[in-house]
Amino acid sequence: MSNENTTIHEFDFTLICEYFSSIERQGPGSSEVTIKALGFIDNLSKDSRILDIGCGTGAQTMVLAQNTTCNITGLDLFPSFINQFSSNANKLNLQNRVAGVVGSMENLPFENVQFDLIWCEGAIYNIGFERGLQEWKKFLKTGGYIAVTEASWFTEQRPQEINDFWQNAYPEIDTIANKVAQMQKHGYTPIAIFILPENCWLEHFYELQIDAQEKFLMKYKGNKSAEELIAYQRHEYDLYKKYKEYYGYVFYVGKKI
Ligand code: SAH
Repeated sequence: MSNENTTIHEFDFTLICEYFSSIERQGPGSSEVTIKALGFIDNLSKDSRILDIGCGTGAQTMVLAQNTTCNITGLDLFPSFINQFSSNANKLNLQNRVAGVVGSMENLPFENVQFDLIWCEGAIYNIGFERGLQEWKKFLKTGGYIAVTEASWFTEQRPQEINDFWQNAYPEIDTIANKVAQMQKHGYTPIAIFILPENCWLEHFYELQIDAQEKFLMKYKGNKSAEELIAYQRHEYDLYKKYKEYYGYVFYVGKKI
């Protein structure tokens, strides 16, 4: 990369959308982990409503739908992800209970006190963990749940290279203890906290990208933005392999008091 300070946010969004639409999920995760987190949520019925924020093409949304009887709204900023989301819901015959909406997590187009559960895998960093917890709370019913994954430090100290990478990419990354304290500060009881296993990053995310990267680079041969996007993904993958003892995604499940 020509500029080591470039962040993912600065790449061409159309290219990013096309690249990430070509893989099953747009962030680390797995069906098993979604089901595990869902296991901590009580009292969901066919009348319950779930909001999946930053749903992408909906890998986790479809798992939620297949493991509950609830009505689910997926929301994402990018229309192309929502198109693919809707076609995934149709293919699984879930279109009666699962709807995709284009919108921003910074300005949710819903009435207050609507949802029994707010879900957000690999996306709250776009608004920031604390701001998301604060601003989304009003959309939950009392006793409703929030379940989000968030990049977190596993140790108090870490090597400079990985520390610098995250300070540039997402300075709100913090230790699990500090994230839990933030949940409590914003009026959620911590119900379950667990680290996503490595396969969520390797098998289910970075390794799935290897072929997609080759195809993408062939299609956009000579396109500097496309080449930088792939170089950045590969750099992230290398850093993960090197420093996975120090950071990862953590599922934070909380209950609105
Ligand atoms: N939950 C999916 C996608 C995670 S990637 C998965 O785990 O596979 C992060 C997602 O957040 C992307 O789909 C991106 O389009 C979406 N996003 C980014 N900024 C957003 C915003 N302001 N409002 C809504 N969605 C946003």
